[in-house]
Amino acid sequence: MNILVIGGAGYIGSHMVKFLHRAGHDTVTYDNLSNGHADAVLHGTLIEGELNDRSHLDEVFASRRFDAVMHFASLIEVGESMREPARYYANNLAATLTLLEAMRNAGCDNLVFSSSAAVYGKPPTAAVSEDQPPSPINSYGRTKWMAEQMMSDFAAAYGLRYAALRYFNAAGADPEGELGERHEPETHLIPLVLAAALGRRTNISILGTDYPTPDGTCLRDYIHVWDLARAHLLAVERLFSHGECLTLNLGNGDGFSVRQVIDVARRVTGREIPVAECPRRPGDPPVLVADASLAGKLLGWMPEYPALEDIITHAWRWESSRATIN
Ligand code: UDP
Repeated sequence: MNILVIGGAGYIGSHMVKFLHRAGHDTVTYDNLSNGHADAVLHGTLIEGELNDRSHLDEVFASRRFDAVMHFASLIEVGESMREPARYYANNLAATLTLLEAMRNAGCDNLVFSSSAAVYGKPPTAAVSEDQPPSPINSYGRTKWMAEQMMSDFAAAYGLRYAALRYFNAAGADPEGELGERHEPETHLIPLVLAAALGRRTNISILGTDYPTPDGTCLRDYIHVWDLARAHLLAVERLFSHGECLTLNLGNGDGFSVRQVIDVARRVTGREIPVAECPRRPGDPPVLVADASLAGKLLGWMPEYPALEDIITHAWRWESSRATIN
């Protein structure tokens, strides 16, 4: 297949490009490099461009026939989305509309979209399934839910076939150590914990210790980025074989608290990791854990690296090798 990977220079997108290459597919990455890195695109062609630049997108679609598009380009920070919602609606919603229009114009009907567990808000059940009606509690989650609804309308009216993949907490790094998580500034828990282990930060802030959870810190379902990549390829194959649209959770089904993540990181790294107990971050739900059984049933997807130890070990390999380079 020939796949257009929007945001292929970013964290998940760059792993996807490598995964697709491994599976024998060709990729063109389209990325504005605002958060991505050109050197993370290990295969295929990289085109630098803005997602809201319709004429540039039209040129890209005219240059070759794409079997499918995978769309990873979005702003992803919950806290920032509460402070700067306009940027989030422009990037995550309006630019996605531009992409959908360009796809429609080019007759490219297959799309895999990075959605998020943030669409669920504060789910009432311990493990949330896709039956749970979305009810996001932050602007980031709302942009993802609105984009899903937009795709659903495009599917009904214009024949778009899409898979909306609701990631829980993407984490870890390429098991071979070539790629990893490089957000600037970094806001995600695991890379920050590892930066504290390396002494690049004085400590890790625990953002909220008074949540209604066993140890007072938030529970999240951490899913290996390589397992996410595999699910995307399976989703495209399913769009081709069955034609109907998909909305699927991607997670391991286990919740780990912030304190548990730090403890596992201490074991994996063998380092002291000092903590600072801080107030809650606005927009954070106490518990987000997936029931991802539907992805198992429809895609035959089974995570290869479900253990938090493996996820943190791969992330640590990447972080510590970067520490040697820098
Ligand atoms: N978190 C934390 N300290 C940090 C960053 C994150 O305690 O410096 C917590 C955050 O409140 C959440 C969990 O770690 O409960 C995962 O946050 P992250 O930003 O990695 O992902 P999110 O759940 O927001 O997608």
